[in-house]
Amino acid sequence: MIKTDVLVIGAGPVGLFALHQLGIIGLKAEVVDNLDKIGGQCIELYPDKPIYDIPAIPVCTGESLTKNLLDQIKPFKTNFHLNERVQEISKEKNNWKITTSKNKIFISPNIIIAGGVGSFEPRKFQIKEAEKFQDNGIFYSIKDKNYFKNKKVCIFGGGDSALDWAIELSKFAEVILVHRRNEFRGAEHSAQIARKLEQEGKIKIKTPFQINSIEGQDKIKAIIIKNDEGKTEKVPTDCVLGFFGLIMKLGPIAEWGLNLEKKTIPVNTENFQTNKEGIFAIGDICTYPGKLKLILSGFHEGAIAARACFKLAKPNEKYRFEFTTTSKSMQERLGVKKSD
Ligand SMILES: Cc1cc2nc3c(=O)[nH]c(=O)nc-3n(C[C@H](O)[C@H](O)[C@H](O)COP(=O)(O)OP(=O)(O)OC[C@H]3O[C@@H](n4cnc5c(N)ncnc54)[C@H](O)[C@@H]3O)c2cc1C
Repeated sequence: MIKTDVLVIGAGPVGLFALHQLGIIGLKAEVVDNLDKIGGQCIELYPDKPIYDIPAIPVCTGESLTKNLLDQIKPFKTNFHLNERVQEISKEKNNWKITTSKNKIFISPNIIIAGGVGSFEPRKFQIKEAEKFQDNGIFYSIKDKNYFKNKKVCIFGGGDSALDWAIELSKFAEVILVHRRNEFRGAEHSAQIARKLEQEGKIKIKTPFQINSIEGQDKIKAIIIKNDEGKTEKVPTDCVLGFFGLIMKLGPIAEWGLNLEKKTIPVNTENFQTNKEGIFAIGDICTYPGKLKLILSGFHEGAIAARACFKLAKPNEKYRFEFTTTSKSMQERLGVKKSD
């Protein structure tokens, strides 16, 4: 059981800046994110794309913004609980009890939901055996590429992830790339490399094919793929990788009794609190008249929500507004000034 002043749900740009705002006013925070990496949409959807409207940064990429936000919160040594989805919340006296998909429990008077458009989840195979073999032969992301060394790997998908992984894994695995269309959607350059590897006999490409069924008892032995004319083919394989993109689901947040408006959470703009005391919502997931789904708006929302968390985390202390330029205590927390 982990006790903290604030649990932040979501390690997107807005959750990250909220951690900074919590840190400088002396509040402890823990973060949970469903993804295996930090950065939310910026990292998952557009790591290389330029962003031109972060105040005082004329241009940065999704990746460099995330890196800078992480650098800015380094002094607070925040714990990130990745690959975990917040499942349930319940009230226990003055605290919220929060349970994750890995059964980790947090106790906190405050929750800041910075969940963006909800948790990103991979689009999965639609055949019945797929669930049985999930994480035991069927995967939707790669945590350690060495796992696939010297194995027969069927990769499904036509986008960048499918192409990039087919190229990468072909260096040490037997790769069969399967796509339901003849043309790939991913970068032309990657498609050309894949075709060249096919000519060199380093990978096999099967198009237009889709998965039809899986053979095997405890582990996968082969898959049957089928084309539009109903022609089937048996492909012996050890592992199957599906890269069909991500779907965004509000997920369990929708079950917590919070007011919802078109998959977003209405908030009071004085403190960004939802209809439940101690539960705040900031960033893309919150709504109010005039809301702009921009990163810069989320930064402002996080600054206000952080101050509102102070009251419940330290009910016997009075919050005092201070500037980082002149506040000794804030500078101490940031590690830029030694205490007298
Ligand atoms: C292609 C593209 C370009 C964009 N360009 C710009 C731009 O130029 N300027 C700009 O200001 N904005 C831009 N945006 C919008 C910007 O990315 C979003 O406004 C921003 O990412 C919102 O940040 P966030 O932290 O609120 O949410 P997100 O970035 O969506 O992060 C939310 C995180 O919460 C996690 N999460 C959700 N639910 C749970 C749960 N139950 N348990 C655990 N974790 C959970 C998710 O996994 C995710 O990592 C762009 C968006 C896209 C898609």
